[in-house]
Amino acid sequence: MAVIAIGTSANPIVQSTTPGLNTNKRNYIEADAMTQRTSRKGVFAGGDIVTGAATVILAMGAGRRAAKSIHEYLTTPGTW
Ligand SMILES: Cc1cc2nc3c(=O)[nH]c(=O)nc-3n(C[C@H](O)[C@H](O)[C@H](O)COP(=O)(O)OP(=O)(O)OC[C@H]3O[C@@H](n4cnc5c(N)ncnc54)[C@H](O)[C@@H]3O)c2cc1C
Repeated sequence: MAVIAIGTSANPIVQSTTPGLNTNKRNYIEADAMTQRTSRKGVFAGGDIVTGAATVILAMGAGRRAAKSIHEYLTTPGTW
C-alpha cells in the first residue's frame, strides 16, 4: 500500500488562531502582491500559504519582497 502524505492546502487553524488576519475562501492568507503585507499590522506572508500550491521560485520571490518590506517597516516608523 502506498500512502500519499503531502499537504497541499492551507491549515484552517490559521484563521481560528489569528484574529484580524484576512484569508480567502480557500483559507489562504491575503497578502499584498508587492509588499507581502497582510491585513494584520506587522504580519507578512508569502509562498504557498498565499498563492496556494505553487513553486519554490515563487515562494523565494515572495520571501525577498517580504524581507524588503519588513526592513522598511522596522526602520521607517509610520509606514504601515
Ligand atoms: C510533492 C511535491 C513536489 C514538488 N515539487 C516541486 C518542484 O519540483 N519544483 C518546485 O519549484 N516546486 C515544487 N513543489 C512546490 C514547492 O515545494 C512549494 O511551492 C514550496 O515549498 C513553497 O514554499 P513555502 O515556503 O511557501 O512553504 P513550505 O515549503 O511548505 O514551508 C512551510 C513551512 O512551515 C512549516 N509550518 C507549518 N505550520 C507551522 C506552524 N504552525 N508553526 C511553525 N511552522 C509551521 C512547515 O513545516 C514548513 O517547513 C512541490 C511540492 C510538493 C508537495
